[in-house]
Amino acid sequence: MSEPNLSDRSVLVTGGAGFVGGQLVQTLAPDNDVTVLDDLSTGERDRVPDDVTFVHGDVRDQRKLKQEIEAADVVFHEAAVVGVPASLRDPPRSNHVNTGATVQLLDYARQYDTRVVLASSAAIYGEPESVPIEEDHPLEPTSPYGVDKLAVDHYARVFAQQYDLPVVPLRYFNIYGPRTGPNPYSAVVDVFLEQARSGDPITVHGTGEQTRDFVHVDDVVQANLRAATTDEVGVAYNVGTGSSVSIAELAELIRTATDSDSPITHTDERPGDISDSEADISRARERLGYEPTVDLRSGIDRLVDAAAPADPPSSS
Ligand code: NAD
Repeated sequence: MSEPNLSDRSVLVTGGAGFVGGQLVQTLAPDNDVTVLDDLSTGERDRVPDDVTFVHGDVRDQRKLKQEIEAADVVFHEAAVVGVPASLRDPPRSNHVNTGATVQLLDYARQYDTRVVLASSAAIYGEPESVPIEEDHPLEPTSPYGVDKLAVDHYARVFAQQYDLPVVPLRYFNIYGPRTGPNPYSAVVDVFLEQARSGDPITVHGTGEQTRDFVHVDDVVQANLRAATTDEVGVAYNVGTGSSVSIAELAELIRTATDSDSPITHTDERPGDISDSEADISRARERLGYEPTVDLRSGIDRLVDAAAPADPPSSS
């Protein structure tokens, strides 16, 4: 399958000042006319390059949302109240941002013929019956966040069926990469790296036997570009690597990669945490041509290298 090519388009990235949105913007900006809509609740303004239009606003602001969708050919919808803990603290806010604003976004998109790529989540599966998890695995989320993402994942399918809207929901697994920000999914890699580097204990929640499929943000960007150019719309795709590690293994990997003596300690389990997670990515492989390119070990090495102090200038 050919490489995805998105150029000379007007592109809106909601949540473009966040971790995933920011990487998408960096990739798209050279060849497209990119606008970011972000309220900076967790995002950072300096993730958005100078040549990108930045609109400081909330996706719940209908006037702004409508205006930006009308102007766009493609929307990458990344803005969200991210994660289980935030949704457990304030379920109505999670619902209004993650579901309410997304349904409004889909409705404007159908009015203005705008293609949508939507950030769904592996959280919609809940505690899996078995791994790897296929897209038609039962959907039984265990948190308000998971319920909200499940609703928009279904809305995407229904908008494609009822209104012919070209929309693709991507069910992200655990994304990691540079500058993950505060979200609790990817933060574990960041937190362990920080603890290992400073020699502090690496704190594993629960037994550490729980497994996760960590996918590098570059591969998530790849999946988004493929979703933005495919004819296979109205269908949800898992975006992971197809393999998983336990959190205890992750801690070891990071300790080795950083050459650290940090001890590994265990703290309480986190409420809402599931035991196992691993994506079956056959559908994305076959229909989108998606292929993960960064394995976890090299992804961690990259992060370690990027954080290493530069060599002092030679005196000769
Ligand atoms: P992030 O917190 O770094 O980015 C979210 C961005 O949305 C931030 O810039 C934030 O300021 C913005 N935002 C939040 N509420 C907003 C609002 N009401 N109006 C406008 N902007 C708003 O998170 P991320 O990791 O980049 O996540 C991106 C998307 O991927 C989210 O939809 C998230 O639910 C989904 N997701 C992420 C992961 C992961 O591992 N990171 C896993 C599954 C799904």
